[in-house]
Amino acid sequence: MTSRPTVPTITLNNGVEIPQLGFGVFQVPDEETTAAVTHALEAGYRSVDTAAIYGNEAGVGKALAASGLAREELFVTTKLWNADQGYDSTLRAFDRSLAALGLDHVDLYLIHWPAPARDLYLDSWRAIETLVADGRVRAAGVSNFQPAHLTRLLDHSDLVPAVNQIELHPGLQQRTLRELHAAHGIATEAWSPLAQGAVLADPLLRELADRHDRSPAQVVLRWHLQLGNVVIPKSVTPARIRENLDVFGFSLTEEEMAAVSGLDADLRTGPHPDTLD
Ligand code: NDP
Repeated sequence: MTSRPTVPTITLNNGVEIPQLGFGVFQVPDEETTAAVTHALEAGYRSVDTAAIYGNEAGVGKALAASGLAREELFVTTKLWNADQGYDSTLRAFDRSLAALGLDHVDLYLIHWPAPARDLYLDSWRAIETLVADGRVRAAGVSNFQPAHLTRLLDHSDLVPAVNQIELHPGLQQRTLRELHAAHGIATEAWSPLAQGAVLADPLLRELADRHDRSPAQVVLRWHLQLGNVVIPKSVTPARIRENLDVFGFSLTEEEMAAVSGLDADLRTGPHPDTLD
């Protein structure tokens, strides 16, 4: 086996360490997920990001079990779906996720969306507090929380989310949220870090890629890492799975970082958190 890159970790606000680069499996059918995650683990990824709604927790679990890797070497994230929000239903949904994954705990459990029209995320968070207390969740976090949702959560609980996983890429840079996260010790995790490919043809990114003899995707991931974001790029293509991990042997200059930061364009590729139910 070739040598695998060592992925740096970020220490979350409860002391748990998360690999700064992990593997996403959104839109991967369950029957293809085991092969994709197996490729990722062989390439050197140790963190996998799934969700109950993706329908592929079982496929992830099979790859983890078959890998022979010790549980402590792995970092597994899953998410509570909107329809399961509420105190009791969160506990039940969590049990189903654990059973599908074939695990006895997850490293990070996220409320997938605030779903403000349901107004249940405070109840869901109380349930997650008990899961943390029971040792079944090592770190608790949220996803797609806007500043107002985060502030309300912080006003009602002593458990500060370890992570807010949000859409973030050069086209949607989320400065307000990143500043709020920094003020509260919440790690910023970028979903669709490559904007599902939508930013990769940008001329500036191509130019930087040529300059560093890298791909535009590698330049974008490097930009995230240097900003301090956690990233979870998804690919089902083995060569891209490896390429996306091979981002630790070069760096962008301050000027290049600033140039990429100039691409912010309010380019939201996914749903808006204020309205998704
Ligand atoms: P990404 O930004 O990771 O982009 C994935 C797409 O880019 C795929 O079409 C993939 O193609 C392609 N791609 C991957 N690597 C490369 C490369 N090196 N060069 C060119 N194209 C590439 O999008 P995702 O939306 O999947 O986001 C990543 C993860 O974030 C998800 O898998 C999921 O885990 C999480 N997520 C969380 C959400 C939330 O609400 N919390 C919402 C959305 C995502 P191919 O696979 O064909 O190689």
